Amino acid sequence: VTLRDLSVVTESRELIDRVLTGLFVGGEFTAAAGGHTLVVEDPSNRAPLAEVADANAGDSLNALTAAHEAMSEWAETAPRTRSELLRAAYDRVQALRRQFALLISLEMGKTLADAEAEVSYAAEFLRWYSEEAVRINGRTGQAPGGGGQMLVTKRPVGPCLLITPWNFPLAMVTRKVAPALAAGCTVVVKPSELTPLTALLFADTLRDVGVPTGVVNVVNTTSAGEVVGALMGDGRLRKISFTGSTAVGSHLLQQAAPGVLRTSMELGGNAPFIVLEDADVTAAVEGALVAKIRNGGQSCVGANRFLVHESLAEEFASGLASRFGDLRVGPGQSPGVGLGPLINSDAVDRVEGLVEAARAQGANVLCGGQRGADEGHFYLPTVLTDVPSNTDVVQSEIFGPVAPIVTISDDDHAVSEANSTPFGLVAYVYSQDLRRALSLGNRIETGMFGVNRGLVSDAAAPFGGAKASGLGREGGPEGLAEYLETHYALV
Ligand code: NAD
Repeated sequence: VTLRDLSVVTESRELIDRVLTGLFVGGEFTAAAGGHTLVVEDPSNRAPLAEVADANAGDSLNALTAAHEAMSEWAETAPRTRSELLRAAYDRVQALRRQFALLISLEMGKTLADAEAEVSYAAEFLRWYSEEAVRINGRTGQAPGGGGQMLVTKRPVGPCLLITPWNFPLAMVTRKVAPALAAGCTVVVKPSELTPLTALLFADTLRDVGVPTGVVNVVNTTSAGEVVGALMGDGRLRKISFTGSTAVGSHLLQQAAPGVLRTSMELGGNAPFIVLEDADVTAAVEGALVAKIRNGGQSCVGANRFLVHESLAEEFASGLASRFGDLRVGPGQSPGVGLGPLINSDAVDRVEGLVEAARAQGANVLCGGQRGADEGHFYLPTVLTDVPSNTDVVQSEIFGPVAPIVTISDDDHAVSEANSTPFGLVAYVYSQDLRRALSLGNRIETGMFGVNRGLVSDAAAPFGGAKASGLGREGGPEGLAEYLETHYALV
């Protein structure tokens, strides 16, 4: 394992000591009922990083009370004021980018470079929605039958519950909080219990720039089912926005039904990365590296399976294996590290199980194929060739640095393979023929599509999936619409 510089260790300790670790309710950081706490671990060495208040259902209902009480005043706050608060939050997050990046890297494990990129992406939602907050418009029209004028306006939906995963501890929070606040909604955020520190630093940042009391509340908990169940069963809640696994999302949709809650669901993915026979292989290998290794392979839009034309498969596989071989594996805060640990031991067990099962079904391990250093949750970057397309490593979400390569014979074959899983978040294609790439994209059932690139995310674009990958969009005007109710009056 590559060691961290002593200066980074000291900086990390001082940073964590400064993060307020209570529940953030009604503008104050408070202890949980009974003083319960949860422990946050460093995935690179399993050492405890911090203890954070662990909410129960009663604590979370206090947060909803705060959000509910703040709702009407926030909805009536001038859009310009909401806009300026979001812009101030953007500036403040940028000013604190080193602290945010280090905290993300420490609690989640990603490299500092990936964490810096996350801070930029996360901050952009604050800036973009600060610009949108003053452009929430409706429409007017004559009733076709005459005798009346139709006024269509937009209103905030009301208090929202925002549930986020651990893989992007800041960006998944700002991608929801920024449009919600721009729309005039108040929120209760429930971050992942594995990465609560970043959300708490963000809450403190919002308080610092003057976001009013109760508009944003944060509850961390190890009892997600109980806490979320209590909130969703309370009639004051109007909407839930969830990012996480398809299994939990599907369960929450059922829980949302009795109260007819508005829902937005950003769920799991299984992105195909397609390399057609006219692709620039060197560019495809570089794109594959980004699409697979970014975030340690723990991204919903990470390339899950590589569908490579049979004429290029060998060249592509050896190119990727060579790039993987150059990656230094270690704690994300160490100099020169290109791949950090996975989030926890369950994740390593799952990835190892998928690779072993593929091996037993005839896949060839070109590089990696084993765990890394014992002290943390490491798995080595792995390329698998000759992978049958019906193996679990191809059909399920890997969430780790493993690249299974399946060969394809033509474009039709690529499309049928791409559409062969229940997921439909994003697909990537490499081809020198743009028309051909776009026509392929039109036949693949996903919400997003990248041409000759391994990353498509942008705060101004509608991020989201088809099929089991979700409902609704985040980012762009579409992301704001998720927090708005349409109101029509005939006058
Ligand atoms: P997860 O579903 O286990 O957890 C997500 C959140 O839901 C966490 O805050 C967790 O505490 C909470 N949760 C868990 N069980 C719950 C329950 N019964 N009731 C209410 N809340 C509950 O997912 P994860 O492991 O944190 O994240 C990884 C998953 O997220 C992957 O499937 C990934 O594809 C997906 N993801 C999707 C997107 C997207 O935009 N589509 C983005 C990032 C991650």
